[in-house]
Amino acid sequence: MQTVLITGGSRGIGEAMVRLFSEKGWRVAFTYLTSEEKALALSRETGALALRCDAKSEGDTAAMAEKVLKQFSHLDTLICNAGISYTGLLQDMTVSQWDELFAVHVRGAFLATRAFLPGMISRQRGSILYISSMWGQTGASCEAAYSACKAALIGLGKAMAKEAGPSHVRVNVLCPGVIETDMLREYSQEDLRALADETPLMRLGTPEDVARAALFLSSESASFITGQALGVNGGFLI
Ligand code: NDP
Repeated sequence: MQTVLITGGSRGIGEAMVRLFSEKGWRVAFTYLTSEEKALALSRETGALALRCDAKSEGDTAAMAEKVLKQFSHLDTLICNAGISYTGLLQDMTVSQWDELFAVHVRGAFLATRAFLPGMISRQRGSILYISSMWGQTGASCEAAYSACKAALIGLGKAMAKEAGPSHVRVNVLCPGVIETDMLREYSQEDLRALADETPLMRLGTPEDVARAALFLSSESASFITGQALGVNGGFLI
């Protein structure tokens, strides 16, 4: 049975991935930070293992990895999805807001990769997927720090594909467009309609759209795909 760990699996895109991978017969573990009730309900519903782990914490990540490896014995796929957003002008941002964003997205991906990669290398198989964003590819006004974090994940994914490729570990990046989750709560209905209108496929994305792409990149069907940043954006950015 294939095994996967999804960070930030309690809501949104992570939750859709937990559901889809579970439905497809994978053994799934996922992390959460604050949404404990949702996480435990999802765990009961899907049979996935829910673990509280702050993505930016070295201690939490090490403890979480130990539990996952104890339960599953090995990890086939790591998906670094946990994320937060910040909307506002760069000059209004505090240093701690900047650091928090980088810690969750970039340090989080580093810590999880460092925890699971040695096991993948020793088995000479595995795959890693970083959830970036189309804003990491093109940049978004009023989301400069977020765009920088997401661009960092694309750089990390490409570099790690080269570093881990000779050990038969694939590393890819997904760049979702505008996806209907709690992360969009700062957008007005009018903004969301305008974003859908700007999208060639004329709609916003769903968490399931992203989950299906993640499943494909994690599967044997993608066995010769590594180092790629795949857009799941309805054609918003081409
Ligand atoms: P949501 O806000 O719906 O969910 C975020 C998830 O991340 C939650 O499960 C949350 O857990 C978890 N999380 C946040 N901070 C931490 C942390 N420090 N440690 C562990 N888990 C944490 O966001 P989305 O589902 O929309 O986003 C998922 C990923 O996709 C993010 O990386 C985001 O940047 C990216 N993305 C989203 C897009 C969108 O339009 N929605 C577009 C492009 C990329 P909890 O609730 O338990 O705290």
